[in-house]
Amino acid sequence: MQDDAAKQLIHHPYRAPPGFEALPVPVHKASTVVFPNMAAVRARDWKHKDAYTYGLHGTPTTFTLEERIASLEGGRHCLLTPSGLAAIALVNQALLAPGDEVLLPSNVYGPNLEYARMELARWGVRHRSYDPLDAAGFEAMLGEHSRLAWLEAAGSVTMEFPDLPGLVAAARRKGVTTVLDNTWGAGLAFKGFDLGIDIVAQALTKYPSGGADVLMGSVTTRDDELHQRLLVTHKHLGLGVGANDAELVLRSLPSLPLRYRAQDAAGRAVAIWLRKRPEVARVLHPAFDDSPGHAHWRALCTDAAGLFSVLLHERYDAPQVDRFVDALELFKIGYSWAGPTSLAMAYPLAAMRPGTTLRGHLVRLAIGLEEPAALCADLERALGIAFG
Ligand SMILES: *Cc1c(COP(=O)(O)O)cnc(C)c1O
Repeated sequence: MQDDAAKQLIHHPYRAPPGFEALPVPVHKASTVVFPNMAAVRARDWKHKDAYTYGLHGTPTTFTLEERIASLEGGRHCLLTPSGLAAIALVNQALLAPGDEVLLPSNVYGPNLEYARMELARWGVRHRSYDPLDAAGFEAMLGEHSRLAWLEAAGSVTMEFPDLPGLVAAARRKGVTTVLDNTWGAGLAFKGFDLGIDIVAQALTKYPSGGADVLMGSVTTRDDELHQRLLVTHKHLGLGVGANDAELVLRSLPSLPLRYRAQDAAGRAVAIWLRKRPEVARVLHPAFDDSPGHAHWRALCTDAAGLFSVLLHERYDAPQVDRFVDALELFKIGYSWAGPTSLAMAYPLAAMRPGTTLRGHLVRLAIGLEEPAALCADLERALGIAFG
């Protein structure tokens, strides 16, 4: 091997000519970012997006995605995290301290509650659950240690749409910071910041990706000081995202409104069909007038995610419900949603929501991009196999 082969390969002088203009955002990858001299090292501040210091602190690709998510949410600053759950953890870690209390809606995304129970408790942070439909009850719970309140619209699995304006007003009166998990709304169904919410988080894994192939989260703010606190913790935890993943989300963003609307329309068509089935006791969809919190949804939104739950009659047994889910062919069994493939998942309602007044066996359906008629035919066949 020639002595200088490695040097030639690593330090090759050719540079592609500048001036290449194409429409997609380029994928910029780096751990090391090179400085022209030591003065530049000293002049650059990792906190500012006007220059680069290290791959973990951002590249042109991740900065571009942050800007787009910030405008989608109607915010000013955005931080990307390696998953939606990491976005939740970042907010908790950045804003809570021993002695504080965090408020979670009773229908909160499950892993958020688990984080509070298993992690926050070890750091001396308490958590309490509130009824997202009862703003007055929520306000009465807030005390001097209440620091942060999570909001989720619609709530996970049971799909209650909360009284967001009422909850936000109550939190404001008591000086409690509010953070919305906006995964369901995707920045499209309503604007969290217009309601006075302080922080808007999202699992970009769902609608913004749309491909069932990327895990990513975002934490968006309008307030500079709040952003700085989140930014510093984000750095300490090393929560960077890869440029290839950021590029996949950037590639999907232009079709986000079209996909959201299409999956909403298909979801409602399938939900309306299911509502008429004798096996179904109730359909939980925020756009249906018998769904908990429907009036709050109607006051705020016209769109909805393509996500809803059905309650199968109590007279069936759990193995029959499993047989129904197992018999589906187009609907795959799995977690997550907003990808091209429709998904089904049975949840243990009584264990998840102690004290719930909802009755029956809960199956959540996430509508993909298949034709609604084909999805209804799949459901009809599986219902026949399980309950016929
Ligand atoms: C999926 C989801 C998350 C977490 O996102 P991951 O990227 O899977 O960690 C958080 N909140 C809600 C409401 C979700 O649906």
